[in-house]
Amino acid sequence: MNKIITKKPIKQNTLIDNHGRTIDYLRLSVTDRCNYRCTYCMPEKMKFLPKQDLLTLDEMDYLCALFISRGIKNIRLSGGEPLVRKGIINFISKLSRFIERGDLNEITLTTNGSQLITSSQDLYDSGVRRINVSLDSLDEKKFNEITRRDDLCNVIEGLEAAKNSGLKVKINTVVIKNKNLDEINNIILWAHKNNFDISLIETMPMGLTDKDRIDQYISLSEVKKIILEKFTLIDSSYKTSGPSQYSKVEETGGLVGFITPLSNNFCASCNRIRLTCTGKLYMCLGQDNNIDFRNLLRTEDDLSLNLAIDRAMRNKPKSHDFDISYKNQAPAVNRHMSVTGG
Ligand code: SAM
Ligand code: SF4
Repeated sequence: MNKIITKKPIKQNTLIDNHGRTIDYLRLSVTDRCNYRCTYCMPEKMKFLPKQDLLTLDEMDYLCALFISRGIKNIRLSGGEPLVRKGIINFISKLSRFIERGDLNEITLTTNGSQLITSSQDLYDSGVRRINVSLDSLDEKKFNEITRRDDLCNVIEGLEAAKNSGLKVKINTVVIKNKNLDEINNIILWAHKNNFDISLIETMPMGLTDKDRIDQYISLSEVKKIILEKFTLIDSSYKTSGPSQYSKVEETGGLVGFITPLSNNFCASCNRIRLTCTGKLYMCLGQDNNIDFRNLLRTEDDLSLNLAIDRAMRNKPKSHDFDISYKNQAPAVNRHMSVTGG
């Protein structure tokens, strides 16, 4: 990688897509690799991308700088498991220069929690203040069945380390029919006792796994009915840059968010674009159109890169095509969530 950012970023713009939405949020998948094999995310025998296809961290930094110069204000690092990418802490520390300059509001991270015992303090020191930790069960057996790894105690200890380091934690829980539905109220109670907000997520049909999505998918409107048997939910105006619609749980005082891509499409307010670890920019999680920034970065000048961003804004789809309605249905998109970054 020969390009070194010496020039000042061009004047801060605002990115507006063809549907009038302001795009200020970049999700970056820093690796497609993961140490877990969650059943809704990937098959046990997952075939990862060839290592040589991945962007280097310097290339990712260059592209982040470019997107920030065009109006991106929030960056979430994801994967795969972002904390298994070598050099990731240095990468974040370096990227934090944009927060110090006031060009970026925050760098956040979504993680499975497996590396938090050793990484929490480093994350805080590198400039991260908020993380999302994915946790779908507090029952060891179910956790093993979902992630296919025997690691619950490690994640719980990692969460403790995150708290002690000063990181604000939100729990992400994918609700899986016939697996963790009966635990949801308990997980909410546990999260709020620990001072964690929590978001519940519907399973999305992305990539082939070795399970049928229809056996996993349940609409969060059904889940809400179960929550209402135990708790009182009060609509909240709390908003992060993500897609969660929050309610306050009266009994605990904590927040529970609902991420409902299938049952209650939120595309009208989408503010996101996603860059994969191989440099493909996806304008929508649930669509296939993309622009290959790795190729442009390695062969073209900044003008071409900027024109490609303009093209992305023109081509961002109005909404995704997710649907889970019958058995053996093909996924809406072939790539796994771990490639695009959840
Ligand atoms: N490995 C990290 C983790 O699990 O938090 C980051 C990457 S993971 C792809 C990001 C989020 O996407 C996690 O909360 C995970 O539960 C969620 N996820 C993965 N596959 C999904 C799917 N098919 N439908 C809905 N959520 C999914
Ligand atoms: Fe790994 Fe996250 Fe996918 Fe689970 S959801 S397999 S932890 S990338």
